[in-house]
Amino acid sequence: MVCQPDCSGRLFEPMGQPTIDRRFTPRFVLMSTCHSDGSSSKATVFVHAFGCQMNAHEGERLLGMLLDEGYQEALTPDAADVIVLHTCAVREHAVHKVVSEVGRLARLKNARTMLKIGLTGCVAQSDGASLLGMAPGLDFVVGSRAVVRLPSVLRRVAAGERVVDVADGEYLELGLAAARRDSLRAYVTVIEGCDKFCSFCIVPYTRGREYGRPASVIVEEVRGLAAEGFREVTLLGQTVNAYGRKEGGAGEGEVDFPELLARVSAVDGIERVRFVTSHPNYLGEGLIEAMVRLPEVCEYMHLPLQAGADSLLKRMNRGYTVAEYMSRVERLRAAVPDVALVSDFIVGFPGESEREFRATLDAVEALRFASIFAFKYSPRPHTRAERWGDPIPEPVKAERLERLLVAQRRIADEHNQSLIGTLQEVLVEGESSRAPAHLEGRTRTQRRIIFPGPAQPGQRATLRVTGIDRGRLVGRVAATPSHVA
Ligand code: SF4
Repeated sequence: MVCQPDCSGRLFEPMGQPTIDRRFTPRFVLMSTCHSDGSSSKATVFVHAFGCQMNAHEGERLLGMLLDEGYQEALTPDAADVIVLHTCAVREHAVHKVVSEVGRLARLKNARTMLKIGLTGCVAQSDGASLLGMAPGLDFVVGSRAVVRLPSVLRRVAAGERVVDVADGEYLELGLAAARRDSLRAYVTVIEGCDKFCSFCIVPYTRGREYGRPASVIVEEVRGLAAEGFREVTLLGQTVNAYGRKEGGAGEGEVDFPELLARVSAVDGIERVRFVTSHPNYLGEGLIEAMVRLPEVCEYMHLPLQAGADSLLKRMNRGYTVAEYMSRVERLRAAVPDVALVSDFIVGFPGESEREFRATLDAVEALRFASIFAFKYSPRPHTRAERWGDPIPEPVKAERLERLLVAQRRIADEHNQSLIGTLQEVLVEGESSRAPAHLEGRTRTQRRIIFPGPAQPGQRATLRVTGIDRGRLVGRVAATPSHVA
């Protein structure tokens, strides 16, 4: 897979179709919609999240919070009384794209005159009140650090105000109320924000400084998920393995990331634990040892390298050299031989020479990632690299990106071929979207696999890989699936 990076903006792959069956007790109904027969019903809200997995999960939390406030979910924008676009500022032209999306959605106001449209998240935090001027159809702007106040903002909007709220707020501690999009696999945020200040990245400016949720709260959330039937949790953070390192921050200084993994893995009913995104500087022996020791922790690590030349890494302020990265990966692979390593890359960073770019190609050849997320550099507001302009011409960036992708496609194909004939433990998710009358699930290394059954969603099956279909593994059941419900 090759697309946009994660801790700097990975595209979200939805975990599944909406399967929301929420039994909640509304605290109060904020708005009601009057119908022509005089009846009224709860106001409906449509939430769409752009960007990375953290944003996607925040979208789930925002929706959960609004359902608890008495809203009903609208599955399409044209059925909504309130549309919330949870934005991502990492990619190029983010503001422009969001403004044109609001313009398109605002046409719905012709038929639904009470419709309110708002932005939350990183673009809202970064551009604030100026967005109201750019998008006349916009009714509210709520920054990533203020989303906890969205319900009160909506009350003011319902009273006729156009509202901007980008002031700092408390963490959106609503994990238990999240309206999750999947019934087997759940995201759980463990650490918010980032202190690393990579020179190209807007995240520390929009999401603020690193903040770890208390371990007891995280474990309690995971227990609730297990009780609801979830089997897999993915712990989320911009630098998830930094958890517990900050004085007075994550885990109240008492629980480090390996210990958090152990506590989450010990929750009854949780069969698999994943975590994204890891920072290379925090891939230490404790984490490697936890991956070896804890059977629930899957053999998968997303570890952005970003560039293959030390000079580039220094300008990016990444805090490690290529040799240090490689030595950590070597230790990881020695202890966890089957680990699938996934990485992120930026091409065309200011001043990137052909020689530096070739060093990136060399690193990709040497490290043999299972997949990468790669994108062309574009300056982001507030960042240090913004001052250096964008001197690499677009055709050069495009050509370098293509060379990188071609190399990675070959490596990924070779990696796929090497899996044919192997046995893989698969968590069965349901019917395949690609092959009729087939099931689909994921391996421990996060590979999708299609097979004819028999098995039930939620079961773990051992499959033998028999082939590859358009980049997806194909297999057959090699051992009777175990029911884990
Ligand atoms: S500043 Fe660096 S480590 Fe932090 S989110 Fe951005 S790219 Fe990731």
